[in-house]
Amino acid sequence: MSANVHTGRPDLGGIRASIQGLVHGGARGGSDEARVARAKAVMLREIDGQHAMYLESCIRCGMCAEACHFYQGTGNAEYTPIHKAEPVKRFYRRELGPMRWLRRLYTPDVTLQDLEKWQPLAYDACTECGRCDLICPMGIQISPLIGIMRRALAAADLLPAELQAVADEQREKGTVLGERGGREGVPDLAGGAGDDPEPCGRELDAAVRQRRTDRHRREPARDQRPAPR
Ligand code: SF4
Ligand code: SF4
Repeated sequence: MSANVHTGRPDLGGIRASIQGLVHGGARGGSDEARVARAKAVMLREIDGQHAMYLESCIRCGMCAEACHFYQGTGNAEYTPIHKAEPVKRFYRRELGPMRWLRRLYTPDVTLQDLEKWQPLAYDACTECGRCDLICPMGIQISPLIGIMRRALAAADLLPAELQAVADEQREKGTVLGERGGREGVPDLAGGAGDDPEPCGRELDAAVRQRRTDRHRREPARDQRPAPR
């Protein structure tokens, strides 16, 4: 969840889109092309004039990298904040930017392999803390761009298994992490205290394992895929 650090207001559009995307889901499965098309549809819908200004303004100074604890802790250039939203930037340049007619000639289209590569960067290597937003000398709000990246990944069935299991449970049962008997209608978010803390945790674990098995069957292991260009 992100907030505009200049105004202090929460990013309501992004929050609303996240909730709608997670709870109501949408089309799932399909061919690789269909999954990429859904991811692009999210980018097309969510990139507005302000995001466009952000994407046009980066001067590649690298200051946001110094603010990000993932980059600080590893020195890995892939953890540079603006890099975590690179497919969003590429999509914008090819499809929406003022020079798109030229950029299409040499900017590669977003592929499913790109999206798979960016899943751990967007979900596992960002806490949406907003430190990068604060330090950017161009005033670029990078964390909302990473938010768009996440929702595009979710549309392409690339939500992490744990999040997908929770989203499915909420959509199908209206609960989050199980529901405790005797507290009807109250979701058990803690999953630990009480007389019998295990059932909801076991249920979620089983759902996560099933999601991983399904995904493993559907897709070859990441290290067996050809490296993205
Ligand atoms: S700090 Fe801002 S201008 Fe500098 S690389 Fe990061 S996003 Fe681009
Ligand atoms: S919002 Fe994400 S990319 Fe930016 S500093 Fe925090 S963890 Fe790093």
